[in-house]
Amino acid sequence: MDFVTIIWSVAGTAALSLGFIQLLAWLYERAKWERLVFFFMTVGSAGISFTELGMVRATTAHEFSNYLRWLHLPTWIAFVSIVIFVHLHLRTANVWLGGLAIGARTVSLIINFLQPINLNYREVAGLRNVSFPGGAVSVIEGVPNPWMLVGQLSLFLLVAFVVNASWTAWRDGNRRSALVTGGSIVFFVLSATVQAVLVLWKVVDWPLTTGFFFLGVVAVTAFDLSRETLLAGRLSTRLHESEQRMTLAAEAANLGIWIRDLLHNDIWASAKWRELFGFGPTERLEMEDVLRRIHPEDQQAVRKIMEKTLVDGGRYDAEYRVILPDGKIRWVSSHGRLELDEKGRPLRMRGVSRDFTARKSIELEALRHRNELTHLSRVKTLGELSSSLAHELNQPLMAILSNAQAAQRFLKQEPANLAEVREILADIVLEDQRAGEVIRRLRLLLVKGEIQQKPVDINTVVREVSKLLQSDLLNHRVTLKTDLAPNLAEVTGDSVQLQQVLVNLIMNACDAMAGNAVGERQITVRTRAVGLSQLRIEVSDMGCGLPETGPEWVFAPFNTTKGHGLGLGLSVCRTIVTAHGGTIGAENNPERGATFHLTLEAQK
Ligand code: ADP
Repeated sequence: MDFVTIIWSVAGTAALSLGFIQLLAWLYERAKWERLVFFFMTVGSAGISFTELGMVRATTAHEFSNYLRWLHLPTWIAFVSIVIFVHLHLRTANVWLGGLAIGARTVSLIINFLQPINLNYREVAGLRNVSFPGGAVSVIEGVPNPWMLVGQLSLFLLVAFVVNASWTAWRDGNRRSALVTGGSIVFFVLSATVQAVLVLWKVVDWPLTTGFFFLGVVAVTAFDLSRETLLAGRLSTRLHESEQRMTLAAEAANLGIWIRDLLHNDIWASAKWRELFGFGPTERLEMEDVLRRIHPEDQQAVRKIMEKTLVDGGRYDAEYRVILPDGKIRWVSSHGRLELDEKGRPLRMRGVSRDFTARKSIELEALRHRNELTHLSRVKTLGELSSSLAHELNQPLMAILSNAQAAQRFLKQEPANLAEVREILADIVLEDQRAGEVIRRLRLLLVKGEIQQKPVDINTVVREVSKLLQSDLLNHRVTLKTDLAPNLAEVTGDSVQLQQVLVNLIMNACDAMAGNAVGERQITVRTRAVGLSQLRIEVSDMGCGLPETGPEWVFAPFNTTKGHGLGLGLSVCRTIVTAHGGTIGAENNPERGATFHLTLEAQK
């Protein structure tokens, strides 16, 4: 094989091999159409080289001009490919100009095949040999065809098209591609055109070497495309790194990642996610299998959420239990979103899932505690109520008991003191009625939480209580002195409840004086007006005085210094007085004992 054959063949093969590399790349990534177009460009370029080889090796003028005619076909392929490639690669091309260039080239191709000889020659005289590096080559002698101008016009249009596209790309900042792709195409196409013009119009004595110029275009463009592949490779390495970082972050945050491809019904999940749901690292994931891992009580809700997201689009959040293959339960929260294609059809769902069993157990524990507390406080309230009921009833019951005992003593006397017994029986009836009233009032208090609002004369209340407690006082050997202010204004309230307060205070005073000598057990109940709008009631004793814990301590529920005490009496008193709009307090007397005082609003 001679050198001339070698160099033209190398030019053609080189172009083709570059083309096949890009064709292979395109098969892997179909979206990159410019790679396929580039392949056609190389097919055209190789076709030009091989046809030119036929020309330079032609032995007759007829053979030469035939090759020249067919040269226009690969040229057309290369030409159209360049236009489309520039359009796809630079994305700034003027489509009209491109269309015009292709149109002109196509017209020239048609003319070429319609002409008796070819586009370039009207008449052929014969072949000549010219020297060329590597040996002599054939060139044709003949009369140039004016139609050739159409072909050359198309080449100028192509140059204008590429210059325009490159210039716009340059202005848009895509300078590299503008310079490499645009610049090289313009340079080589212009060179090929100039050479063709010079050769075909017989200005220079040289064979046509368009194939070499096209090889130049192909080589530079291939370099640009390979650079993109290289960048894509680097990008993929970076992507891999960033994926690694993301996986690390996701794992640190205890997040499992999943993607559900709705078109192929395929689920991809990270290792962490598989671990969360108890799937093996390579196990195939089916949506139904995933749903089956969800607790039966939560399954329906999760299905509904998924369906709703598919219909409504957007995001979804779900919390549910997962039953692991070993039967353990795990609380998982999932957050995902639906992705749509350009036409708005569901494409895939993507999301993260997290194990929040620890937080959930704390929440459940807290809830259990809250429930227990609510229960306990209910029990306590009931306990308090029954205690206060017992407390309130205790006094009339004790009074009834001591009255009955007194009656027994009077009956034992000879003759029996029936008058006293009759009086005692009347007291018992009164005490009994009081007990009944207490129960009635407490029930009222429980049912409605209201107190009776009637005008009450405080002095009457004091007198009634002293009468009620007569036998108790007798048993305790206590004397009760009253110091009642005349013409007191009335208060509004519930006389039975106010009686209870006084009874309580008087009984406490009796208890406080239990250690006193019999002659030193005296209680004084005093009433008086405070200004025009208030009344004050005082209960003073000569007892042991308030405990050292202070006057407020005695009003708190369950505070007691007595062995048998409940510590509720004073707290109930305060509740009643407060409900009447008044205040109650206590202090020690200067010399001996303590004084409890109530202030109530006088009726206007
Ligand atoms: P309880 O009588 O069941 O102890 P109370 O609430 O009526 O419950 O009284 C609480 C405490 O207040 C008593 O245990 C006692 O220590 C003190 N206290 C009440 N009245 C007097 C008083 N007149 N003198 C001294 N201490 C009193």
